[in-house]
Amino acid sequence: MAHAAQVQRMSRLMIKTLRDDPADAETASHKLLVRAGYVRRTSAGIWTWLPLGKKVLENVSRIVREEMDAIGGQEVLLPALLPKEPYEVSGRWEEYGDLLFRLKDRKGSDYLLGPTHEEIFTLTVKDQCTSYKDLPVILYQIQTKYRDEARPRSGVLRGREFQMKDSYSFDTTDEGLATSYALHREAYTKIFERLGLDYRIVSAVSGAMGGSASEEFLAPAAAGEDTFVDCPACDYAANTEAVTVKVAPVEDADHGPVEELDTPDTPTIEALAAHLDVPASATLKNLLVKVDGEIVAVGVPGDREVDLGKLGEHLAPATVELVTAEDFVDRPDLVRGYVGPQGLAGTAFRYLADPRIAHGTAWITGANKQGMHAKNVVAGRDFEVDQYLDVVVVEPGDPCPKCGTGLRIDRAIEIGHIFQLGRKYADAFELDVLGQNGKPTRVTMGSYGIGVSRAVAALAEQSHDGSGLCWPREVAPADVHVVAAGKAKQTELALEIGEKLGAAGLRVLVDDRAGVSPGVKFTDAELIGVPTIVVAGRRAGEGVVEVKDRRTGEREELSVEDAVARLG
Ligand code: ATP
Ligand code: MG
Ligand code: MG
Ligand code: MG
Repeated sequence: MAHAAQVQRMSRLMIKTLRDDPADAETASHKLLVRAGYVRRTSAGIWTWLPLGKKVLENVSRIVREEMDAIGGQEVLLPALLPKEPYEVSGRWEEYGDLLFRLKDRKGSDYLLGPTHEEIFTLTVKDQCTSYKDLPVILYQIQTKYRDEARPRSGVLRGREFQMKDSYSFDTTDEGLATSYALHREAYTKIFERLGLDYRIVSAVSGAMGGSASEEFLAPAAAGEDTFVDCPACDYAANTEAVTVKVAPVEDADHGPVEELDTPDTPTIEALAAHLDVPASATLKNLLVKVDGEIVAVGVPGDREVDLGKLGEHLAPATVELVTAEDFVDRPDLVRGYVGPQGLAGTAFRYLADPRIAHGTAWITGANKQGMHAKNVVAGRDFEVDQYLDVVVVEPGDPCPKCGTGLRIDRAIEIGHIFQLGRKYADAFELDVLGQNGKPTRVTMGSYGIGVSRAVAALAEQSHDGSGLCWPREVAPADVHVVAAGKAKQTELALEIGEKLGAAGLRVLVDDRAGVSPGVKFTDAELIGVPTIVVAGRRAGEGVVEVKDRRTGEREELSVEDAVARLG
């Protein structure tokens, strides 16, 4: 669909570009979106979208909206400020823990800022739909979400306030749900293709072979916080929720002498403590504790410790054996053994993340025993280090579970997530409609998210070079960036060609700023990243401009007429 044509003069645009990276910025998107004047940090994980940024955000939203409408989605807008009660019914008031922004009104009633809206959509449909004839329904919104992320970082990639498209499907049959899911999968494919993002669809449920109950759309990028395995030979791809670290020889480590211990079979933590001649609440280094053959705790020379007291709380009497730290240093096979529901994931991650001794990649495969939604887990960000999670270790070259070929491992940004919820929320809220047989029928649901603001950052991660951003045309803040490189004559020609390109239906940014050198204007144009740059410069007197492709750097000189004909 066409953008509305527009000619924006930079002399009237609120924009301040920066030559230096913001001090706290680690990722390219964070640096470039701030430096090019798209966003401004307001507080940790809270961002202001400046004029150019708002245009890009709107372009992404428009594409999402068009493709959601195309599958019959109906747009609604739910509040972000929500009462506690529905989230108590679903259990998420408790489950979300610190991730939830909670607040009270003047009367002392509890509210939250919505992190996602399954509960309220379920209630909306319960209120609005009464018969099977009212279904299927797909509802969506593009709305501000709130999550008190433990580590809001990387600019708009992970905000505490961010824009999400969330949609929810409501069907009476499992086949209906499968159809709604397939429609979303198709719409997402179109959306990410139109956005110009390089993406992969991966299974979000580890180990679920070919299962389609939940899939993620991942944009490969070094700055991504997700890790996925990808089979070069078949279609197997899955999120690994991983930490990848290097091996360094332990001799380099700054640690005390490694304690030599026998590996007795000891029935309880108390007995273990007695064997070691320490109190049952002691914390110990240089230990690796196995229970019934499974490693449950790792003490790392130098700084990590095994907390026997904590371990004792969690473990039923079991066979505990000890090995010395030396036994597992540089032994990926031992780390590989760190598997199973008894795995103390935090400890495993701390062990893996220690660059002095760590090796390999950890793959969290399941929910912890407390039932936390343990997806896309990063230690310290998403869970406390003493929570229990299933942990499997995977390394590049490990066999694909489907065909045995060596797996690849890459970093990526989660840009979308589609999920067949089934009847979880319908059960919680007793969402029934009158069935064809005249009896109440329980509804089955899907939920589907796209990180709209995150997609802007993902695009910036994938589309930039040493000079700045390189937006794909559909999301770019303008089609053409005209630079007046000189004095009055150049400015006059720049405005003239700007008007002509605008009349031809293009969105044009004209750098007509007085008192700004051509060099600064060129640098800004490269930084801002509009796909085509037109320069009115040396040959302005002859009515000749230079047309440059931002991405390839290819340039040619054309008359104004030819340039308008070419670009229009
Ligand atoms: P992540 O694993 O990155 O924390 P998530 O799995 O918690 O994301 P979902 O609940 O699946 O996120 O939300 C749907 C989409 O919203 C995600 O696929 C992602 O694109 C986006 N999103 C989630 N959290 C954030 C955030 N803090 N900032 C920006 N976008 C986000
Ligand atoms: Mg995730
Ligand atoms: Mg999350
Ligand atoms: Mg997700």
